[in-house]
Amino acid sequence: MSEQFDVIVIGSGPGGYVCAIRAAQLGMKVACVEKRATLGGTCLNIGCIPSKALLQSSEVFHETAHSLKDHGILVDGIKLDLDRMQDRKGEVVAANTKGVEFLFTKNKITWLKGAGRIVAAGKVDVAGTVHETKTIVIATGSDSVPLPGVTVDEKRIVTSTGALELDEVPGHLVIIGAGVIGLELGSVWGRLGAKVTVVEFLDRILPGTDTEIAKSFQRILAKQGFSFKLSTKVTGATQDDKGVSLTMEPVKGGAAETLRADVVLVAIGRRAYTEELGLAEVGVATDNRGRVITDAHFATNVPGIYAIGDVIAGPMLAHKAEDEGVALAELLAGQAGHVNYGVIPGIVYTWPEVASVGETEEGLKAAGIAYNIGKFPFTANGRARAMGATDGFVKILADKTTDRLLGAHIIGPDAGTLIAEIATAMEFGASAEDVARICHAHPTLSEAVKEAALAVEGRALHI
Ligand code: FAD
Ligand code: NAD
Repeated sequence: MSEQFDVIVIGSGPGGYVCAIRAAQLGMKVACVEKRATLGGTCLNIGCIPSKALLQSSEVFHETAHSLKDHGILVDGIKLDLDRMQDRKGEVVAANTKGVEFLFTKNKITWLKGAGRIVAAGKVDVAGTVHETKTIVIATGSDSVPLPGVTVDEKRIVTSTGALELDEVPGHLVIIGAGVIGLELGSVWGRLGAKVTVVEFLDRILPGTDTEIAKSFQRILAKQGFSFKLSTKVTGATQDDKGVSLTMEPVKGGAAETLRADVVLVAIGRRAYTEELGLAEVGVATDNRGRVITDAHFATNVPGIYAIGDVIAGPMLAHKAEDEGVALAELLAGQAGHVNYGVIPGIVYTWPEVASVGETEEGLKAAGIAYNIGKFPFTANGRARAMGATDGFVKILADKTTDRLLGAHIIGPDAGTLIAEIATAMEFGASAEDVARICHAHPTLSEAVKEAALAVEGRALHI
């Protein structure tokens, strides 16, 4: 008979490992099942962390090659050592995954190594041993959506996983899908010298993002060298020893065309991953997109089985998964765990960054909510000028009657950090005037947020 646990979490991504830690902090006996050789899930191994490591390295390379002369710094003979860049990425990933292993030891969490399969409520099979538990948490995450006719080999036709591992800079990288993955990884390889073409089914990039921000972002990316083929449908791909031929046609009909690529990145979204988990056998209900159906407290239809993170509905973001992990552990301990889905920031870690929280203009219009807009460009911010980073602006949306903050969208330097101020203010139910009246240090990029908040009432000072 194996050990009896209070909680077995299946999957050690940001949802699973954070849930395991919080449950252990609250006094529960916890195990986490992970079949990958290292902990941390998609995010730490093949997602957030390696992509940010390469974004950082490629940004330094690009800046050194193109921007330093503006500062009066002349550097000759800049060369790319891609092997070292990839090794550094590996070191960053290892430091993070080992960090989770350390946290498991510190919190006395048992790592059950192998693939977990639910055999019944309260019973999880891992490599032939059935472990007993009061509660099961499904945190098995997601994987890439395949595109029929475009067969991934992770060498020439890649998902994000292969695109993070390329051992040479492709001459021409064609990306299918103008979403977050496409634009971040397109930025990495574009900065290192690839010609980048993005083929997108819709007539815009970054669907779901505030349209004004997305249009402005597309212009900025085009200036950086990205080519966009919007409203275009890829119909197939064939490989030869020199590369890939992609066939495509306009979504609305019209002449087909062929595009040659050295590498093709398929980045058309991710889908819930529940393979061989035993869901059908134990009767856990899933929706038409394969996501585990849960109630507001993360409970599935089978008593004692819960689910969090990418495998359930909602934005596929690491911090959303983490917050759900904490909330669920607290609910299991009899506390009032809660996630405010109205205030989950989303960030695209390109240059400049794109950050959003709360409602978009389109969302407010659709909901019939009257709003005021305050905008402020980074061209009018002293610190952004000093940095030579004036692309972009801050846009704040506030309720027309009450001035309560409804959303904010920032395209610009360090937008991902700046958006945290608005998220905090929104959590406290603040108004735009509240943000405008807070003393923001000078000269900082955050003054652009204050100025946009002032602009909601038409009284920005520096424009
Ligand atoms: P995952 O991280 O997917 O973890 C699930 C784990 O479960 C995996 O390790 C898997 O091996 C394991 N597993 C699955 N089935 C079983 C089983 N039966 N038994 C044992 N183990 C199992 N989000 C952000 O917020 N910011 C970013 O910058 C960001 N960048 C990204 C970049 C890329 C290239 C990608 C692909 C994703 C990125 N994401 C980012 C999304 C983020 O990675 C996910 O939202 C997040 O990892 C979801 O966490 P999770 O815990 O739900 O699942
Ligand atoms: P996405 O949903 O962000 O974008 C997919 C894009 O592909 C969309 O623009 C969609 O219209 C387009 N598309 C769909 N089918 C297509 C087709 N047949 N042909 C051409 N275009 C098509 O998905 P993604 O970029 O693959 O990212 C997956 C998930 O990973 C996202 O949910 C995202 O939240 C998460 N992620 C987050 C970050 C971050 O937070 N910085 C980074 C990477 C990934």
